[in-house]
Amino acid sequence: MKDVYTLDDLRHWDAATAGEDPPIRLSVFGDPVAHSKSPGMHNPALETCGIPARYARLHIRPEELPEALRLLPRWNFIGTNVTIPHKAAVAGLVDQVDEHALKIGAVNTVALDGDRLIGFNTDGPGIVRAIRADFGVDIRDLRVMVLGAGGGAGRAIATQCALENCQRLVLVNRTHEKARALAGALAPLLKGPRLLGPAARLEAVPWEAAPLAAQLANTDLVINATSCGMKRTDPPALPPSLIQAHLMVFDTIYTAHRTPLLAEAEAAGARAANGLSMLLYQGVLAFEIWFNRDAPVEIMRAGLLAATA
Ligand code: NAP
Repeated sequence: MKDVYTLDDLRHWDAATAGEDPPIRLSVFGDPVAHSKSPGMHNPALETCGIPARYARLHIRPEELPEALRLLPRWNFIGTNVTIPHKAAVAGLVDQVDEHALKIGAVNTVALDGDRLIGFNTDGPGIVRAIRADFGVDIRDLRVMVLGAGGGAGRAIATQCALENCQRLVLVNRTHEKARALAGALAPLLKGPRLLGPAARLEAVPWEAAPLAAQLANTDLVINATSCGMKRTDPPALPPSLIQAHLMVFDTIYTAHRTPLLAEAEAAGARAANGLSMLLYQGVLAFEIWFNRDAPVEIMRAGLLAATA
C-alpha cells in the first residue's frame, strides 16, 4: 500500500491497487494528507474485526473533490473521511447530510449507501466523548472557554458545545471579529434558563489578559483549538499566570510532545489532556457509522499512539 494515493490513482483504482489484499475500501481525503494518522487507527481496527478492507490516504485537491467523491461507488468503497480543507465543501457535494452535520455545517465522514453518499460529522460528538473519557464530565454541565474560536476546529467545537447546551460558552480568537461573528451565529442554540449569577451565558472576549482572567474565574474547561503549541518552541496558548488550579485544560493538539499549555496547566495544578482522544473518538464514531457495530476502541488508541510516537 502506498503512503498517499492521488485522484489519478482513484480513476484507475483497480490498476493502482492491483494485488492489494484485503482491498482498500476506506480512505481519508485531504490537502495535504500525508500527516494523517487515521490509517494508523483504522487498519488495526479493520484487521481485529476481521473486516476484509483497508484504509488509505488520498491527496485530493479542492478542485478534484467532486470527481473523487463520485468515483467512490464505482470501486465499492465503504466510505471516506475528509479533512482539511474539505469539510465544509463536502456537505454540498453529497446526496444527503445527516441532521447533526447540517447543524455543525461540516462533514468529516462519508458513508456509501449503494451509489448514494451520506455525510456525517463525528468531530463534534468526538470531542464530547473525549472530554467524558479524559475528565469524567459532560460538556453540557460545564462552563467552557474555546481558544481559537475562529478556526475550523474551534468553530466545530464551539458549535458542538452550544448544541450540548453547555452551562456557559466563552469564545476567544486572536482575530476577535471572528469570535464575535460566531457568538452571533450560536446564540440561538443555547436554550433554557441556567443558574449562572451575573456572568453572561455566551460571550466573545478579546485575547487580552484582563478580560481572559475575569472569564477564567467563571470557567471549568478551557479548550485550545489554536495551532499555537504545535511547535515545541511555541509559547503556551495562555500566559501561565492566567492558568488556575480549578481548570480542566484540553489541548486539541495531539503531537507526541507535551504542549507548552499542558505543561503550564500541570504546573498550576490543573487537570490536563491532549487532543489524541478527540482524534480517536471521531474515528471510533466513523467506524461505527460505516459498520453499524462497536469499534475496538483500545486497539484504535494503541494504533494512534504508535502512529503519533
Ligand atoms: P485553522 O482553521 O487554521 O485555525 C487556526 C486557529 O488558530 C485560528 O483560530 C487562529 O486565529 C489561531 N491561531 C493560529 N496561530 C495562533 C497564535 N500564535 N496565537 C493565537 N491564535 C493562533 O486550523 P484548524 O484546522 O482549526 O486547527 C487548529 C488546531 O486544532 C490545530 O492545532 C490542530 O492540530 C487541532 N485539531 C485537532 C484535532 C483533533 O482531532 N485532536 C482535529 C482538528 C484540529 P486567527 O483566526 O486569528 O488566525
